[in-house]
Amino acid sequence: MTLATSHSYLGNDLEVLRGRTLLDNGIYVDLPLLAEKSMVLFPGQTLPMMEYNIRTMEMLRKCLKKDKTFGVACLRYNRGFSIGTTAEIYEYSENTGTNEVRVKAKGRQRFKILRIRSSSGRISADVQILPEIELGPPFHDDRLACLDRLRIIPTNEKEAQEQNKVAKLDSVLTPWPAWVYNQYNPRRLAMKIHQYLRFVDSKGINIPTDPTELSFWVAQNLIMKDKMKISLLELDCAIQRLQMEVKLLAKLQEKLFVCAHCRVVVAKQVDVFPMNTEGLQSAYCNPHGAIHETVTVYRTQSLILRPDPPSTECSWFPGYAWVIANCARCGFHKGWKFTATRSDLIPKSFWGLTRADLVWGDPDENEDDDEDDDGDDSLGILDLEGG
Ligand SMILES: [Zn+2]
Repeated sequence: MTLATSHSYLGNDLEVLRGRTLLDNGIYVDLPLLAEKSMVLFPGQTLPMMEYNIRTMEMLRKCLKKDKTFGVACLRYNRGFSIGTTAEIYEYSENTGTNEVRVKAKGRQRFKILRIRSSSGRISADVQILPEIELGPPFHDDRLACLDRLRIIPTNEKEAQEQNKVAKLDSVLTPWPAWVYNQYNPRRLAMKIHQYLRFVDSKGINIPTDPTELSFWVAQNLIMKDKMKISLLELDCAIQRLQMEVKLLAKLQEKLFVCAHCRVVVAKQVDVFPMNTEGLQSAYCNPHGAIHETVTVYRTQSLILRPDPPSTECSWFPGYAWVIANCARCGFHKGWKFTATRSDLIPKSFWGLTRADLVWGDPDENEDDDEDDDGDDSLGILDLEGG
Protein backbone atom coordinates (compact mmCIF):
# COMPACT_ATOMS: atom_id res chain seq x y z
CA MET A 1 0.00 0.00 0.00
CA THR A 2 2.81 2.42 0.80
CA LEU A 3 4.44 1.67 -2.57
CA ALA A 4 1.19 2.57 -4.31
CA THR A 5 1.01 5.78 -2.25
CA SER A 6 4.57 6.74 -3.17
CA HIS A 7 3.84 6.11 -6.88
CA SER A 8 6.98 4.00 -7.11
CA TYR A 9 6.31 3.31 -10.83
CA LEU A 10 7.56 6.85 -11.50
CA GLY A 11 11.03 5.63 -10.51
CA ASN A 12 13.18 6.24 -7.47
CA ASP A 13 15.35 8.99 -8.92
CA LEU A 14 13.00 11.88 -8.22
CA GLU A 15 14.51 14.75 -6.29
CA VAL A 16 12.65 15.54 -3.08
CA LEU A 17 11.94 19.26 -2.84
CA ARG A 18 11.87 20.88 0.55
CA GLY A 19 9.84 23.78 1.86
CA ARG A 20 6.21 24.48 1.37
CA THR A 21 4.39 27.31 -0.35
CA LEU A 22 1.31 28.65 1.34
CA LEU A 23 -0.34 31.55 -0.47
CA ASP A 24 -2.21 34.13 1.61
CA ASN A 25 -5.98 33.79 1.60
CA GLY A 26 -7.67 36.31 -0.65
CA ILE A 27 -4.58 37.36 -2.62
CA TYR A 28 -4.61 37.60 -6.41
CA VAL A 29 -1.96 35.65 -8.31
CA ASP A 30 -1.09 34.86 -11.88
CA LEU A 31 -0.99 31.06 -11.95
CA PRO A 32 0.09 28.79 -14.82
CA LEU A 33 -2.65 26.21 -15.43
CA LEU A 34 -2.19 22.56 -16.19
CA ALA A 35 -4.18 22.67 -19.38
CA GLU A 36 -3.43 19.30 -20.97
CA LYS A 37 -4.86 17.25 -18.14
CA SER A 38 -8.04 18.74 -16.85
CA MET A 39 -9.22 17.15 -13.64
CA VAL A 40 -10.76 18.06 -10.31
CA LEU A 41 -8.01 18.06 -7.70
CA PHE A 42 -8.80 18.45 -4.00
CA PRO A 43 -6.49 19.85 -1.32
CA GLY A 44 -4.49 16.95 0.11
CA GLN A 45 -4.81 14.82 -3.04
CA THR A 46 -1.66 13.52 -4.77
CA LEU A 47 -1.17 14.25 -8.46
CA PRO A 48 1.42 12.02 -10.20
CA MET A 49 2.57 13.11 -13.65
CA MET A 50 4.69 11.77 -16.51
CA GLU A 51 4.93 14.62 -18.92
CA TYR A 52 6.08 14.63 -22.55
CA ASN A 53 4.26 17.75 -23.70
CA ILE A 54 6.93 20.41 -24.38
CA ARG A 55 4.81 23.34 -23.18
CA THR A 56 3.75 21.61 -19.99
CA MET A 57 7.35 20.58 -19.27
CA GLU A 58 8.41 24.20 -19.76
CA MET A 59 5.67 25.33 -17.40
CA LEU A 60 6.78 22.82 -14.75
CA ARG A 61 10.43 23.92 -15.05
CA LYS A 62 9.40 27.54 -14.55
CA CYS A 63 7.31 26.60 -11.51
CA LEU A 64 10.25 24.81 -10.02
CA LYS A 65 12.34 27.96 -10.13
CA LYS A 66 9.56 30.04 -8.58
CA ASP A 67 7.29 28.68 -5.85
CA LYS A 68 6.74 25.13 -7.23
CA THR A 69 3.04 25.91 -7.59
CA PHE A 70 0.72 25.60 -10.57
CA GLY A 71 -3.04 25.50 -10.94
CA VAL A 72 -5.24 22.49 -11.74
CA ALA A 73 -8.77 23.09 -12.97
CA CYS A 74 -11.36 20.98 -14.68
CA LEU A 75 -11.64 22.71 -18.04
CA ARG A 76 -14.18 20.28 -19.50
CA TYR A 77 -17.15 22.21 -18.15
CA ASN A 78 -17.90 25.82 -18.85
CA ARG A 79 -18.87 26.49 -15.31
CA GLY A 80 -15.77 24.59 -14.23
CA PHE A 81 -13.77 27.55 -15.38
CA SER A 82 -14.60 29.22 -12.10
CA ILE A 83 -12.74 26.99 -9.67
CA GLY A 84 -9.46 25.10 -9.24
CA THR A 85 -6.83 23.95 -6.76
CA THR A 86 -3.17 24.86 -6.52
CA ALA A 87 -0.78 21.93 -6.84
CA GLU A 88 2.67 22.07 -5.28
CA ILE A 89 5.48 19.98 -6.72
CA TYR A 90 7.19 17.93 -4.01
CA GLU A 91 9.24 15.52 -6.14
CA TYR A 92 10.71 16.15 -9.55
CA SER A 93 12.95 14.51 -12.10
CA GLU A 94 13.85 15.30 -15.67
CA ASN A 95 15.29 12.93 -18.24
CA THR A 96 16.83 14.91 -21.08
CA GLY A 97 17.54 11.69 -23.01
CA THR A 98 13.91 10.57 -23.32
CA ASN A 99 12.69 14.14 -22.97
CA GLU A 100 10.27 13.56 -20.15
CA VAL A 101 9.54 15.14 -16.80
CA ARG A 102 8.19 13.16 -13.88
CA VAL A 103 6.50 14.98 -11.06
CA LYS A 104 4.62 14.32 -7.87
CA ALA A 105 2.49 17.22 -6.72
CA LYS A 106 0.00 17.71 -3.91
CA GLY A 107 -3.28 19.66 -3.97
CA ARG A 108 -2.99 22.64 -1.60
CA GLN A 109 -5.43 25.57 -1.82
CA ARG A 110 -8.63 26.30 -3.69
CA PHE A 111 -8.78 29.27 -6.02
CA LYS A 112 -11.36 31.18 -8.00
CA ILE A 113 -10.53 31.81 -11.65
CA LEU A 114 -11.08 35.44 -12.62
CA ARG A 115 -9.61 35.42 -16.13
CA ILE A 116 -8.00 32.79 -18.32
CA ARG A 117 -5.19 33.82 -20.65
CA SER A 118 -3.86 31.70 -23.42
CA SER A 119 -0.88 32.50 -25.61
CA SER A 120 0.92 30.09 -27.95
CA GLY A 121 -0.57 27.07 -26.21
CA ARG A 122 0.33 28.17 -22.70
CA ILE A 123 -2.61 28.73 -20.40
CA SER A 124 -2.46 30.82 -17.28
CA ALA A 125 -5.09 32.50 -15.18
CA ASP A 126 -5.60 35.41 -12.83
CA VAL A 127 -6.90 33.72 -9.72
CA GLN A 128 -7.88 34.58 -6.20
CA ILE A 129 -6.85 32.20 -3.44
CA LEU A 130 -9.96 31.13 -1.51
CA PRO A 131 -10.01 30.78 2.28
CA GLU A 132 -11.21 27.70 4.14
CA ILE A 133 -13.83 29.19 6.40
CA GLU A 134 -13.97 27.44 9.76
CA LEU A 135 -17.02 28.09 11.86
CA GLY A 136 -16.97 27.14 15.52
CA PRO A 137 -19.72 25.34 17.41
CA PRO A 138 -23.05 27.01 16.52
CA PHE A 139 -24.02 27.59 20.15
CA HIS A 140 -20.76 29.16 21.21
CA ASP A 141 -21.91 32.75 21.71
CA ASP A 142 -25.22 31.79 23.33
CA ARG A 143 -23.98 28.93 25.40
CA LEU A 144 -24.53 28.32 29.07
CA ALA A 145 -21.05 28.80 30.50
CA CYS A 146 -21.93 26.60 33.46
CA LEU A 147 -22.04 23.63 31.06
CA ASP A 148 -18.50 24.27 29.76
CA ARG A 149 -17.01 21.58 31.98
CA LEU A 150 -19.21 19.01 30.20
CA ARG A 151 -18.16 20.05 26.71
CA ILE A 152 -15.77 17.66 25.00
CA ILE A 153 -15.10 16.68 21.41
CA PRO A 154 -16.91 13.33 21.22
CA THR A 155 -14.81 10.40 20.03
CA ASN A 156 -17.39 7.65 20.41
CA GLU A 157 -21.14 7.26 20.38
CA LYS A 158 -21.55 7.33 24.16
CA GLU A 159 -19.76 10.67 24.34
CA ALA A 160 -21.81 11.89 21.38
CA GLN A 161 -25.02 11.05 23.28
CA GLU A 162 -23.70 13.05 26.25
CA GLN A 163 -22.99 15.99 23.95
CA ASN A 164 -26.53 15.64 22.57
CA LYS A 165 -27.85 16.30 26.05
CA VAL A 166 -25.60 19.36 26.45
CA ALA A 167 -26.75 20.69 23.04
CA LYS A 168 -30.39 20.25 24.06
CA LEU A 169 -29.79 22.27 27.22
CA ASP A 170 -28.01 24.97 25.19
CA SER A 171 -30.84 25.20 22.67
CA VAL A 172 -33.32 26.06 25.42
CA LEU A 173 -31.90 29.58 25.23
CA THR A 174 -32.61 29.93 21.49
CA PRO A 175 -35.76 29.89 19.35
CA TRP A 176 -34.65 26.69 17.58
CA PRO A 177 -34.55 23.07 18.71
CA ALA A 178 -31.17 21.33 19.03
CA TRP A 179 -31.45 19.31 15.81
CA VAL A 180 -31.39 22.52 13.77
CA TYR A 181 -28.00 23.37 15.20
CA ASN A 182 -26.71 19.82 14.79
CA GLN A 183 -26.93 20.27 11.03
CA TYR A 184 -24.27 22.96 11.29
CA ASN A 185 -22.00 21.27 13.78
CA PRO A 186 -18.85 20.18 11.90
CA ARG A 187 -17.86 17.58 14.52
CA ARG A 188 -21.28 15.96 14.43
CA LEU A 189 -21.31 15.93 10.62
CA ALA A 190 -17.83 14.38 10.66
CA MET A 191 -18.99 11.67 13.09
CA LYS A 192 -21.96 10.88 10.87
CA ILE A 193 -19.63 10.48 7.89
CA HIS A 194 -17.40 8.13 9.88
CA GLN A 195 -20.52 6.08 10.70
CA TYR A 196 -21.39 5.84 7.01
CA LEU A 197 -17.83 4.87 6.18
CA ARG A 198 -17.94 1.85 8.48
CA PHE A 199 -18.53 -0.35 5.44
CA VAL A 200 -15.05 0.63 4.26
CA ASP A 201 -12.31 -1.81 5.05
CA SER A 202 -10.21 0.95 6.56
CA LYS A 203 -7.26 -1.24 7.49
CA GLY A 204 -4.06 0.64 6.72
CA ILE A 205 -5.67 3.93 5.77
CA ASN A 206 -6.17 7.04 7.75
CA ILE A 207 -9.60 8.61 7.39
CA PRO A 208 -9.13 12.16 8.69
CA THR A 209 -11.02 13.31 11.78
CA ASP A 210 -10.52 17.04 11.18
CA PRO A 211 -13.77 18.22 9.50
CA THR A 212 -12.06 20.21 6.72
CA GLU A 213 -9.60 17.43 5.84
CA LEU A 214 -12.40 14.87 6.03
CA SER A 215 -14.59 16.90 3.68
CA PHE A 216 -11.82 16.85 1.04
CA TRP A 217 -11.01 13.18 1.68
CA VAL A 218 -14.61 12.12 1.07
CA ALA A 219 -14.80 14.27 -2.07
CA GLN A 220 -11.66 12.58 -3.38
CA ASN A 221 -12.66 9.03 -2.44
CA LEU A 222 -16.31 8.73 -3.43
CA ILE A 223 -17.27 7.80 -6.95
CA MET A 224 -19.05 10.85 -8.32
CA LYS A 225 -19.21 12.84 -11.51
CA ASP A 226 -16.89 15.78 -12.14
CA LYS A 227 -19.89 18.10 -11.98
CA MET A 228 -20.52 17.02 -8.38
CA LYS A 229 -16.84 17.28 -7.49
CA ILE A 230 -16.78 20.84 -8.80
CA SER A 231 -19.85 21.72 -6.71
CA LEU A 232 -18.05 20.44 -3.61
CA LEU A 233 -14.85 22.31 -4.48
CA GLU A 234 -16.81 25.54 -4.90
CA LEU A 235 -17.98 25.53 -1.28
CA ASP A 236 -15.92 27.70 1.07
CA CYS A 237 -16.80 25.95 4.29
CA ALA A 238 -16.32 22.36 5.42
CA ILE A 239 -19.80 22.38 7.00
CA GLN A 240 -21.52 22.77 3.63
CA ARG A 241 -19.27 20.17 2.04
CA LEU A 242 -19.91 17.68 4.85
CA GLN A 243 -23.66 18.28 4.65
CA MET A 244 -23.65 17.43 0.94
CA GLU A 245 -21.45 14.40 1.56
CA VAL A 246 -23.70 13.05 4.34
CA LYS A 247 -26.53 13.25 1.83
CA LEU A 248 -24.47 11.49 -0.84
CA LEU A 249 -23.33 8.74 1.51
CA ALA A 250 -26.90 8.13 2.69
CA LYS A 251 -27.87 7.51 -0.95
CA LEU A 252 -24.79 5.47 -1.75
CA GLN A 253 -25.71 2.78 0.78
CA GLU A 254 -28.03 0.94 -1.63
CA LYS A 255 -26.28 1.80 -4.86
CA LEU A 256 -24.20 -0.20 -7.31
CA PHE A 257 -21.53 1.04 -9.67
CA VAL A 258 -22.69 0.81 -13.24
CA CYS A 259 -20.99 1.42 -16.58
CA ALA A 260 -21.33 5.11 -17.49
CA HIS A 261 -22.03 4.18 -21.10
CA CYS A 262 -24.41 1.19 -21.04
CA ARG A 263 -25.39 1.04 -17.33
CA VAL A 264 -24.58 -2.61 -16.83
CA VAL A 265 -23.69 -3.34 -13.18
CA VAL A 266 -19.91 -3.46 -12.77
CA ALA A 267 -19.21 -3.51 -9.03
CA LYS A 268 -20.72 -3.16 -5.59
CA GLN A 269 -19.85 -0.53 -3.01
CA VAL A 270 -19.15 -3.26 -0.40
CA ASP A 271 -16.29 -4.61 -2.54
CA VAL A 272 -14.36 -1.33 -2.52
CA PHE A 273 -11.15 -1.55 -0.50
CA PRO A 274 -7.95 0.51 -0.17
CA MET A 275 -4.71 -0.42 -1.95
CA ASN A 276 -3.21 3.00 -1.16
CA THR A 277 -2.76 4.55 2.30
CA GLU A 278 -4.44 7.72 1.02
CA GLY A 279 -7.76 5.95 0.59
CA LEU A 280 -10.02 4.03 -1.76
CA GLN A 281 -9.43 6.07 -4.84
CA SER A 282 -6.26 7.71 -6.11
CA ALA A 283 -4.94 9.28 -9.27
CA TYR A 284 -2.27 7.27 -11.11
CA CYS A 285 -0.36 8.12 -14.24
CA ASN A 286 0.18 5.69 -17.11
CA PRO A 287 3.37 5.56 -19.26
CA HIS A 288 1.67 7.74 -21.88
CA GLY A 289 1.09 10.49 -19.35
CA ALA A 290 -2.67 9.97 -18.97
CA ILE A 291 -3.97 10.34 -15.42
CA HIS A 292 -6.59 7.83 -14.26
CA GLU A 293 -8.45 8.27 -11.02
CA THR A 294 -8.73 4.65 -9.99
CA VAL A 295 -10.89 2.96 -7.37
CA THR A 296 -9.82 -0.49 -6.15
CA VAL A 297 -12.38 -3.30 -5.70
CA TYR A 298 -12.16 -7.00 -4.80
CA ARG A 299 -14.78 -8.21 -7.27
CA THR A 300 -16.41 -7.03 -10.47
CA GLN A 301 -18.98 -8.34 -12.91
CA SER A 302 -19.72 -7.85 -16.64
CA LEU A 303 -16.08 -7.10 -17.46
CA ILE A 304 -13.94 -8.95 -19.99
CA LEU A 305 -10.17 -9.00 -20.05
CA ARG A 306 -8.14 -8.21 -23.13
CA PRO A 307 -6.39 -11.37 -24.40
CA ASP A 308 -2.94 -9.86 -23.72
CA PRO A 309 -0.53 -11.48 -21.25
CA PRO A 310 -0.41 -9.74 -17.83
CA SER A 311 2.17 -6.94 -17.74
CA THR A 312 4.20 -5.62 -14.81
CA GLU A 313 5.45 -2.64 -16.80
CA CYS A 314 4.89 0.57 -14.88
CA SER A 315 2.49 -1.23 -12.51
CA TRP A 316 0.85 1.19 -10.08
CA PHE A 317 0.79 -1.63 -7.54
CA PRO A 318 4.30 -3.12 -7.42
CA GLY A 319 4.21 -6.92 -7.35
CA TYR A 320 0.99 -7.00 -9.37
CA ALA A 321 0.66 -7.52 -13.12
CA TRP A 322 -2.16 -5.83 -14.98
CA VAL A 323 -4.48 -6.69 -17.88
CA ILE A 324 -6.87 -4.18 -19.44
CA ALA A 325 -10.55 -4.80 -18.64
CA ASN A 326 -13.41 -3.63 -20.84
CA CYS A 327 -17.17 -3.59 -20.38
CA ALA A 328 -18.61 -6.88 -21.67
CA ARG A 329 -21.70 -5.15 -23.00
CA CYS A 330 -20.48 -1.92 -24.63
CA GLY A 331 -16.77 -2.63 -24.96
CA PHE A 332 -15.61 0.65 -23.38
CA HIS A 333 -12.46 0.60 -21.25
CA LYS A 334 -13.35 0.21 -17.56
CA GLY A 335 -10.03 -0.46 -15.85
CA TRP A 336 -7.56 -3.22 -15.13
CA LYS A 337 -7.33 -6.53 -13.35
CA PHE A 338 -4.25 -6.77 -11.15
CA THR A 339 -2.87 -10.22 -10.29
CA ALA A 340 -0.13 -10.92 -7.74
CA THR A 341 3.19 -12.08 -9.19
CA ARG A 342 4.40 -13.39 -5.83
CA SER A 343 2.72 -15.91 -3.56
CA ASP A 344 3.13 -13.78 -0.41
CA LEU A 345 0.97 -10.90 -1.66
CA ILE A 346 -2.56 -10.35 -0.39
CA PRO A 347 -5.02 -10.06 -2.09
CA LYS A 348 -4.12 -12.50 -4.86
CA SER A 349 -5.94 -10.31 -7.35
CA PHE A 350 -8.12 -7.23 -7.46
CA TRP A 351 -9.49 -4.70 -9.94
CA GLY A 352 -8.72 -1.04 -10.51
CA LEU A 353 -11.65 0.78 -12.08
CA THR A 354 -11.52 4.19 -13.75
CA ARG A 355 -13.67 6.56 -11.73
CA ALA A 356 -14.69 8.66 -14.72
CA ASP A 357 -16.28 5.63 -16.44
CA LEU A 358 -18.55 4.65 -13.53
CA VAL A 359 -21.78 6.10 -12.19
CA TRP A 360 -24.17 5.02 -9.46
CA GLY A 361 -27.21 2.98 -10.30
CA ASP A 362 -29.96 0.98 -8.64
CA PRO A 363 -30.04 -2.80 -9.06
CA ASP A 364 -33.27 -2.70 -11.06
CA GLU A 365 -33.09 0.69 -12.74
CA ASN A 366 -32.40 1.37 -16.38
CA GLU A 367 -32.61 4.92 -17.57
CA ASP A 368 -32.86 7.05 -14.47
CA ASP A 369 -29.52 8.65 -13.70
CA ASP A 370 -29.66 9.11 -9.98
CA GLU A 371 -26.60 11.16 -9.50
CA ASP A 372 -28.09 14.03 -11.43
CA ASP A 373 -30.44 15.02 -8.67
CA ASP A 374 -27.53 15.25 -6.25
CA GLY A 375 -26.81 18.64 -7.67
CA ASP A 376 -29.88 20.20 -6.08
CA ASP A 377 -29.11 22.72 -3.41
CA SER A 378 -31.96 21.83 -1.10
CA LEU A 379 -30.38 20.27 1.91
CA GLY A 380 -33.38 18.56 3.50
CA ILE A 381 -33.04 17.45 7.07
CA LEU A 382 -30.03 15.31 7.80
CA ASP A 383 -30.57 12.51 10.24
CA LEU A 384 -27.73 13.09 12.65
CA GLU A 385 -29.40 11.65 15.74
CA GLY A 386 -29.52 7.96 14.94
CA GLY A 387 -26.64 5.52 15.32
ZN1 LIG B 1 -20.71 -0.67 -20.72
